Order: sequence, then C-alpha cells, then structure tokens
Amino acid sequence: MNVLVTGGAGFIGSHIVEYNLSKGYTVHVIDNLSSGKRENVSFAQNNPNFKLFESDILTWDGLNEAVQWADVIYHMAAVVGVKQVLSDPVRMLENNIGGCSHLLKTIANTKSQPIVMLASSSIVYGDTENPSLHENDLLSVKSTAQGHWGYAVSKMANESTGFAYYHDKKIPIIIMRLFNMVGPRQSGRYGMVMPRFIEQACTNTPITVFGDGSQTRSFCDVRDMAKMSHALSKNSQSIGQIVNIGNTKHISILDLANFIKKCAHSHSSISHLSYEEAYGEAFIDIMNREPNLDKLYRLTQLKHEWSLQSSIDDLISRFK
Ligand code: UDP
Repeated sequence: MNVLVTGGAGFIGSHIVEYNLSKGYTVHVIDNLSSGKRENVSFAQNNPNFKLFESDILTWDGLNEAVQWADVIYHMAAVVGVKQVLSDPVRMLENNIGGCSHLLKTIANTKSQPIVMLASSSIVYGDTENPSLHENDLLSVKSTAQGHWGYAVSKMANESTGFAYYHDKKIPIIIMRLFNMVGPRQSGRYGMVMPRFIEQACTNTPITVFGDGSQTRSFCDVRDMAKMSHALSKNSQSIGQIVNIGNTKHISILDLANFIKKCAHSHSSISHLSYEEAYGEAFIDIMNREPNLDKLYRLTQLKHEWSLQSSIDDLISRFK
C-alpha cells in the first residue's frame, strides 16, 4: 500500500505517517516545513519505506507522479492555529484553498483514483449552542471581516471542492472533520491550548486561561485519530462521507487548567487573560464544541484507546 501524506511533518500528519508505517505501508510526505518540522518524522528517517520531500504542494514538480503512485492520500497540509490564522491571513487562504484545489485538480488530470482523505475542521460548525454536533448540522460563519473566520471559510471551501471532484470526476474522497486533536509533537506556538498548559504546568509558570475559562472543548488523542482515519480509508462505505473525528468527553478550559496542574503536581498559578491580551485583537471564542460520533463508530467499529487523563499523563511524562 502506498500512502502520500501532504503536511506529513506536521503534528497530526506525523502521527498518520507513524501509524501507516507501522502497518508496513510505504509512506511519502510532502511538506514545505513552514510549521511542520523534520524532527517530527525523525522516528522514520532510517525506515526504507519512508521518504520526505521538502517542497510546497502548490509548486512541487513531483505531485503528478506522486498522486499516480499513491493508493491513499491524506491531505493534511494547511496553515492552522488561531495565532497563525490571525497573523498570516493571505497565506492561510492561498495555501488552504489553493493547495486542496491544486491537489484534486492534479489527481483529476492524471485520471488516477487514490482515496483522498481531506482534513477539515470542527470550526465549520461555527459558534453554536448545539451540544452535540452532527455531520448534517448547519454550518456557520460569524463574520468574514474577522480574520479568524477565514479559516472556517477555507475548510468549507475544501469540503465543497472535495465533493465537486467526487461528483464530477469520481475521485473517492472522505472528509474528516477534526475536533481538537492533542498528543505528542503538538506545538503551543500557534495558540493550541494543550501543549501550552502542559509546558506552563511543568515549568511552574502561570497557566494562561483566555477569558473566564467557561468555554468547553472535547480533546481527542491524535493516536486514536490516526487509527480511526486509517479504518475509514479501509471502508468503502466512507467514500463520499463527512465524518466527525474527535472525542465526546468535554471539559471547560478552566477545569482543564486545574486538572493539568494537579496531574503535574504543579505550583503554577492560573492567570486569566482577555482575548485582546491573548490574540492582540478582539476575538469571539467558540463557547462549546462537542462532536456526535455515531457515524465514526459505525464506519470504523473502533473505540478510543486514549482518555483525557492518559493523554495528559503521557504528555507530562514526555515533557519531564
Ligand atoms: N486557550 C486558553 N489558553 C491558551 C490557549 C488557548 O485558554 O493558552 C483557549 C482558547 O481560547 C480556546 C481553547 O483554549 O477557548 C482551545 O483553544 P485552541 O486554540 O487549542 O483550539 P480551538 O480554539 O481551535 O478550539
């Protein structure tokens, strides 16, 4: 089995690489290393089944050949993270929308038929009171004038482009709507809460809760995600489907801060920052987000192996 992972040197991509190599597959990565890092795939450097191409998907001259070689393509390359999205909106839109469109166009032009796993995001559900987000629920964007929502637009565009190629060019696509992934190799550089809180707790520096901390999230260990996405790719009933991937156990951000503090035996204080202080501009956070996973469980027949506690314990022991 030949697997191509765009953005495979990023946090989530690198776990997809690791899981697919563990299956004995040949895995090639294309990554421009803008936020991905070589060291994220250092575990694979001596594996003859692995190759990393350092290039941008929009300009890589190997793409034609790679899409014909691949049986499965995971399209993970994207500009992500609230801080990056706010600070680099043009690059984000060009890469996220242009990259996906270029990939699908290349596949269609070569008349190849790899299974294409497109990474989307729970951000497409927008700011909603709905306690359990189902794949068929309404999607929403608050305001295109606020940079943050451009990311949601880019992911909606990816989904629609994917379906256009599925219907028109018969490319077998699967849309993965990812909900707050956590795990080893995630960077706090672009805002992600888990690696920031782990580092702050382990270094006994103040844990920075944005707003009052009543906003909730449900965190999914990326190693469960890698396994579940592989199972989706193996089930022909997943083709042409949108599938939520996440975890249903939610926690408020303030409770998360206190929980990590306790698990790390930390002396950190909890410091509340306004969104202006955190992001340098007014920002409307999403207050609650939790997926309905009925479809994921039906299509994969898998359950999660990692609980929030086990993911946090693992991250703390790796940090220390
Ligand atoms: N957050 C926080 N402190 C931080 C980083 C993030 O309180 O140092 C909050 C953030 O405002 C959001 C939640 O944690 O409510 C999850 O943020 P993240 O950027 O990880 O994911 P997303 O906002 O995309 O769900």
